[in-house]
Amino acid sequence: MPEHSSLVTSSTFAGLGLPEILLHALTAHKFTVPTPIQADSIPPLLAGKDLLGIAQTGSGKTAAFVLPILHHLLATPRRPGPFQTRALILAPTRELALQIDEAARTLAAGSRMRTVVIIGGASRYKQCENMRRGADIVIGTPGRVRDLMNTRELSIATAERFVLDEADRMLDLGFIRDIRAIVAALPTRRQSCLFSATMPAEVAQLAAGLLNDPVRVEIAREEGKEPKIEQSVRFVPTSGKQALLTELLKDPAFERVIVFTRTKHGANKVAEKLEGAGIQVDAIHGNKSQPQRERALRDFRTGRARVLVATDIAARGIDVTGVSHVINFDLPAEPESYVHRIGRTARAGAEGVAIAFCDATERSTLRQIERLLGDKIPVVGEIPADFQGRPDAPKPAWKRGGGGNTGGQNRRSPRPQGQRGMRSAA
Ligand code: AMP
Repeated sequence: MPEHSSLVTSSTFAGLGLPEILLHALTAHKFTVPTPIQADSIPPLLAGKDLLGIAQTGSGKTAAFVLPILHHLLATPRRPGPFQTRALILAPTRELALQIDEAARTLAAGSRMRTVVIIGGASRYKQCENMRRGADIVIGTPGRVRDLMNTRELSIATAERFVLDEADRMLDLGFIRDIRAIVAALPTRRQSCLFSATMPAEVAQLAAGLLNDPVRVEIAREEGKEPKIEQSVRFVPTSGKQALLTELLKDPAFERVIVFTRTKHGANKVAEKLEGAGIQVDAIHGNKSQPQRERALRDFRTGRARVLVATDIAARGIDVTGVSHVINFDLPAEPESYVHRIGRTARAGAEGVAIAFCDATERSTLRQIERLLGDKIPVVGEIPADFQGRPDAPKPAWKRGGGGNTGGQNRRSPRPQGQRGMRSAA
């Protein structure tokens, strides 16, 4: 696989070979300088090459694959037939699919590009109606895309461009079978690209089957831009969790907070109690409809809701910057989920705080999490005697060093091991 030269440092979009209409849209949106992933990916994509991109959210990867697709569609105008699409972009979550659609519409402003979003949780009927006229670009999640393909309300047999975005997350979410089925229905003559934040063996294998002699572009995560998450744990009886949460939220420093519960019922209960305490709160979980989820996320993004209570599944794909605190009201059943949960804070180079509540039934889960992290989470407050005595018990905060004498909250906690991969599975 040829390594694409990272010396491509064209400092303008025009220099990358993009047409006037796209340059206008870029200027209108104040995108003046291409990001490194854009500078490295756009020229080979415009030249018709397949591409393997290793880059994270925030790198500008969306425009890196959307701009060449728009260029191609504009350069070879052709009306797609009913239910057909000329390009297919797959994303792991509904929220990400909507974000890509928004980016595509923004960049295609001024042209007559037709995008159709095909995601679960939204009206299937409307999506089929939209497909009746055909689409230039379909942006979707694997399950619903496959569903519409099965009923012949979406045909990708003539798709000229294919993008698999956040491939590592796709695999984490168990979409591999859907992806294989979708790829099998694509025409052999096409341009494909795959983007992933990490490159575990399964993703490499998927890429090998999907891409034809691809150019590889890798954007290293910038040093010093690792998430800085200050973690702590509080031992609290189940019956005391709600009161502790309400107490913590009296502090205005808890500006934008995600509270994780294990169950949908738990999420509703916590949200109701907070609402009763006069806190602006919303809940998202599997029982909420897609419009309800979108509204909750919008309110949380804009600050109309200060607290979002969520279950793990519902939280996948939440990419809200400025989350000041993540509170694990319940510890997750799977230790890996802890890492995903706390990764909701400290995004885009910001710092964040993660607080875990641990009751008597959750102590073994806490140990598993600490084993996964390869370190103890600093404790704030009392450590129960029966926990303290265990050989693998976390050291009390005052023994951990690092200055201060009030417990772990003021201390920089260890960065979880494997955090590079953390966002990939979030
Ligand atoms: P992405 O990694 O695609 O999710 O993009 C991250 C953010 O960067 C988005 O908010 C984009 O609107 C923004 N962005 C992408 N490319 C550029 C650019 N060349 N100049 C300025 N902002 C950009």
